[in-house]
Amino acid sequence: MESSSLTRRELLGSMLKASAVVAISSSVAAAQSPKASAAVVDDLVSANRILAQQGILDGYGHVSVRHDAARERYLLSRSFAPALTTAADIQQYDLDSNPLDPAARTSFVERFIHGEIYRARPDVHAVVHSHAPALIPFGVTGVALKPLYHMTAFVGEGVPVFEIRKVRGNDPKMLMLVHNPALGRALAATLGSKPAALMRGHGAVIVGSSLPQAVGRSVYLALNATLQAQAAALGGSNDYLDPQEAREEVSDNYQRAWDLWKRQAMAADCATPRT
Ligand SMILES: [Zn+2]
Repeated sequence: MESSSLTRRELLGSMLKASAVVAISSSVAAAQSPKASAAVVDDLVSANRILAQQGILDGYGHVSVRHDAARERYLLSRSFAPALTTAADIQQYDLDSNPLDPAARTSFVERFIHGEIYRARPDVHAVVHSHAPALIPFGVTGVALKPLYHMTAFVGEGVPVFEIRKVRGNDPKMLMLVHNPALGRALAATLGSKPAALMRGHGAVIVGSSLPQAVGRSVYLALNATLQAQAAALGGSNDYLDPQEAREEVSDNYQRAWDLWKRQAMAADCATPRT
């Protein structure tokens, strides 16, 4: 009896020790997580403001960047309007999309988009999730989004459409949102090795090897959608980039546009300070 009672005490003790270890590991993980460089955080703030200024993000949508000192981490604003984002709003996440700071503020419901794409795509260093209006019709009509001009040569191999109905099962809540890891993985699978995917009745995800590339692709893909709709309205035959032309991406990965947009975002910071 005594030995059984001791066993229970021992068991309880070991359970308490185990939970303490989990709690300590979690805080140690947060403490050991290297700080992202100030330059990367500043670029992410710029990306938020640029995408808002360019009409790609409004009060909704988000942009993230892979941590520059820890590949299994990424940086993303707390749930907040991109145009108002400051360095103080940037939080670190692991690839399961758990915030690493126990005191983190409210996270975006759809942060799993970012974590699962970084996990599936080692080549990706920046992810944009937008609800850009010009893209929405191409996600619901079956009309394929195609490279109409040289600024969007990167979609020469097509833009897949994510159909959330196929993967959400019987989950009755947040029907259109990528609100858990399984949905994030399904979206990453639809994206495959492509630079962009549309999300039916919702928006799009655009990725890049850097923030300038992901931001540039996001801006010009939305412009391409507007131009393609205009071209279709004109009638006649639409002559898109051919496969060889579509292999020639913008040579500077939109760096020149990024520099300009960043300058414009900084000018606008006079109205909405970053810190
Ligand atoms: Zn969304």
